[in-house]
Amino acid sequence: MDNYKGYIHLYTGNGKGKTTAALGLAIRAVGAGKKVFIAQFVKGIHYSELDALKRFPEIVINQYGLDCFIINQPTEKDILAAQKGLNEVKKAIESHLYDVIVLDEICIALYYQLISLDDLKNVLKNHPENIEIVLTGRYAPEELIEISDLVTEMKEIKHYFNNGIQARKGIDY
Ligand code: ATP
Ligand code: MG
Repeated sequence: MDNYKGYIHLYTGNGKGKTTAALGLAIRAVGAGKKVFIAQFVKGIHYSELDALKRFPEIVINQYGLDCFIINQPTEKDILAAQKGLNEVKKAIESHLYDVIVLDEICIALYYQLISLDDLKNVLKNHPENIEIVLTGRYAPEELIEISDLVTEMKEIKHYFNNGIQARKGIDY
């Protein structure tokens, strides 16, 4: 545990609000003069935050996913994209250019074995004390909960998706 410096947030659970919480934190950080790097794992479709965050030169947001395997099986391309993402996160940490680093849907990437927990832990290990790390995604493994300092579970009480309502642009993506 001693190897994990700086605070690690983990937003997990099956309810809505994990990614938007991370984006909200990113915007708050910018308000305090901080710089943010956001890596979106698994996701490849165009989420509205990609456009919204263009207004903030202090935030870099990149996607490292193809978004298509959820209905199929992950392919080599999905794995390569996720591994590229993790490598970019490592470089972002080592660059010391960012104060907050978000690994959006990293738990999904772990769940589908696009990256290994060991590889993720190696990237997080010894990260500089002044960098805040935010991990998101449902199905957080126990070990990730253990190394995190702040863990919030978004619990679904009700969701319109269950009534057949499709994801809506600007609200869900
Ligand atoms: P948000 O991004 O709104 O904060 P979240 O990060 O908590 O939500 P995730 O579990 O990461 O939600 O959902 C990932 C994507 O899958 C989102 O684009 C969401 O709109 C979509 N999604 C989640 N649950 C469902 C569902 N039951 N049916 C259809 N789409 C869903
Ligand atoms: Mg999400």
